[in-house]
Amino acid sequence: MFRCPDLGPKPALGYIANPLQRAAERRGDAGFLAGLEDHRDARAYAVGGEMVVLKKAGNGFDPLFTLTEARSLGKSAETVFLGVLDGGSRFGIGLDPAGTEALKARHDLHVSDLRSIAVQGLTDADHCAALAEAKALLHWHARHRFCATCGKPTIVVQGGWRRDCPACRAQHFPRTDPVVIMLAVSDDRCLLGRQSRFAPGMWSCLAGFVEPGESIEQAVRRETQEEAGIVCGRVFYFASQPWPFPMSLMIGCHAEALSSDITVDRSELEDARWFGRDEVATMLLRRHPGNLTTPPPVAIAHHIIRAWIEDQHHGLA
Ligand SMILES: [Zn+2]
Repeated sequence: MFRCPDLGPKPALGYIANPLQRAAERRGDAGFLAGLEDHRDARAYAVGGEMVVLKKAGNGFDPLFTLTEARSLGKSAETVFLGVLDGGSRFGIGLDPAGTEALKARHDLHVSDLRSIAVQGLTDADHCAALAEAKALLHWHARHRFCATCGKPTIVVQGGWRRDCPACRAQHFPRTDPVVIMLAVSDDRCLLGRQSRFAPGMWSCLAGFVEPGESIEQAVRRETQEEAGIVCGRVFYFASQPWPFPMSLMIGCHAEALSSDITVDRSELEDARWFGRDEVATMLLRRHPGNLTTPPPVAIAHHIIRAWIEDQHHGLA
């Protein structure tokens, strides 16, 4: 009989503590947005491709720049309106990725990727969430400068939340790509997999993109069968998480495994196998004798796994 060890306080999930009021109903008001940009309390996050620019401030880091400061960091592209907070406003400014790389030489700045910033806690969690919004939106702009309908250049409207084509009048909206990430469980064990790009010893939930014409439940069953050959029955939604790498929404689920023989798709996974609750508990606690681990708390996989260990979630044995 499994007895759950004390796993400690529940850590926060990454990229969800966004304090900004998006003020979506005001995005079409150019005068309102211009007023916000000109206000002395306006601040911006500076993002260049995968990299984020931080100011060194005492022993820590400050991700906020004035808009003038952010634009002076290098060749800038779009400015997007992220939202308002305490009367001030927050923008995202897209920098040229190559120029952002060159900023690593500056002693007053720190340039890092958003995953590292979140895992290492370089800024407050609410900045990580707002940075996720900025990064995903700016990534979409960087790849949608031309109309997908007629090929002509498009223009930014609605504070960066739409691009319009002056030639054919098509309107293009920012995309979020849904990804299912699931823990298949059966009796007292769960299915974890490893991708070759993972850190040594780390095992995680299986995951994959939801395809057009597919429900979340169907995507969970298809991906689990494709990647590990396991047939799943009931699927239960757990939680979701913005995942700005580059612009996904992770949809976390638990699934009831109906078969047990694993067939690993080696093009997707390095390996997959069943893990017992006791072993997974030692991985969550970083006490596994073979140094196997689960993903860090910033990722939803950590929370999906922990929920199963702690709650025997949704009555799935
Ligand atoms: Zn067009």
